[in-house]
Amino acid sequence: MDKQGFTTGIVHGDRQPGAEHGGVRQPIHTSVQYGFERVEDLIGVFQGTKKGGFNYARQGTPTTAALERKITSLEQGVGSICFGTGMAGICAVFLTLLRAGDHLVSSRYVFGNTNSVFGTLRTLGIEVTTVDATSADAVANAIKPNTRMVFVETIANPGTQIPDLEGIGALCRERGLAYVVDNTITSPALFVPKAVGASLVVNSLTKTIAGHGAALGGAVTDTGLFDWSTYPNIADDYRGSAPKEQGLLQVRKKGLRDMGGSLSSEQAHSIAMGAETLALRVARCSDNALALARFLEGHEAIGRVFYPGLESHPQYAIAQKLFKGASWLLSFELRRADRMIDFVNALKLPIKATGLGDTRTLIIPVAPTIFHEAGPEVRKSMGISDGMLRLSAGIEDAEDLIADFDQALKLAL
Ligand SMILES: *Cc1c(COP(=O)(O)O)cnc(C)c1O
Repeated sequence: MDKQGFTTGIVHGDRQPGAEHGGVRQPIHTSVQYGFERVEDLIGVFQGTKKGGFNYARQGTPTTAALERKITSLEQGVGSICFGTGMAGICAVFLTLLRAGDHLVSSRYVFGNTNSVFGTLRTLGIEVTTVDATSADAVANAIKPNTRMVFVETIANPGTQIPDLEGIGALCRERGLAYVVDNTITSPALFVPKAVGASLVVNSLTKTIAGHGAALGGAVTDTGLFDWSTYPNIADDYRGSAPKEQGLLQVRKKGLRDMGGSLSSEQAHSIAMGAETLALRVARCSDNALALARFLEGHEAIGRVFYPGLESHPQYAIAQKLFKGASWLLSFELRRADRMIDFVNALKLPIKATGLGDTRTLIIPVAPTIFHEAGPEVRKSMGISDGMLRLSAGIEDAEDLIADFDQALKLAL
């Protein structure tokens, strides 16, 4: 079954012989409690000796478990944990695998709320250094004796910087550091971070994987590459399991069970439905983003265009080598920031909204919205100018998008 193509795997990978009434889709299990005929089985689920059992929905349901298996298979990992949001998954990783006195090295170019979490980690005594991770040397130079983990995003939002994913993977392997890669923007349809040595992969399921903008969710996947028996922060309770499983087990117990950012069965089902068309959507959105990027790059009202599918992008070669497409994320600058409001209001198709990876094209001015709270200094360090707009290309017909931009840009000249 491992030899199957990506989409075949998604739509056939979770067939269950003997399903009730022959149901083709995974049922939505709404039970919070799970009862047993024999109390020994209830005890076994609590003690982990009865595999695959459920006891209380905060720790997972058959529906969320089915989605976890799907994500694990897409990421070619050894296990996944689903969360109620991507941020719940990211926080669970940091808060359960880092301790006071530890040091985290992160790319400077990360999702705004992740950057905000770094502030919280600092209040808890965890040091965080952010560097320009497009250079593996910059990451190497930041490493200290108490460094435990390196965190990057595959394509940074909104500036589309791509870290030296392979170089950092080699560095983490050499230094024995956990390498956490946020794959949200690329999704496993374009890139599998295990290929560059990632230890853990984070996905906001809300974005590309669900694709419909109708459910929130997140996932953490262990690639099986990291030997957690060498990692100092695993609690004694979890040292008993296989070295590859200890990290995820601790995240499941301390992060999901105790912190409680659980995914509901209804949302898990909705995300699993969206995931079936993942590869189709991502290919179409990437084509649309590239067509728009080319159109914008040649337009007199436009300053810089940030899109890894353009030859002009600083990490174009990495994108070509590692990714199956350059994704739906595209940012650009108007030459005249003072024309921003008129231009965006003149657009008819794109929805003026935050959010990413939807079937509909979404557009948002970056500085006054998602990076407003970050302040001018952080914006400057991340290369975010006042005239920057972020676009999440949808699955519309490219000609319609280009025609709409063409008419609206007349107001930006
Ligand atoms: C949206 C996003 C997240 C957070 O996901 P939510 O599901 O909204 O909590 C994390 N990382 C990246 C790169 C994102 O775009």
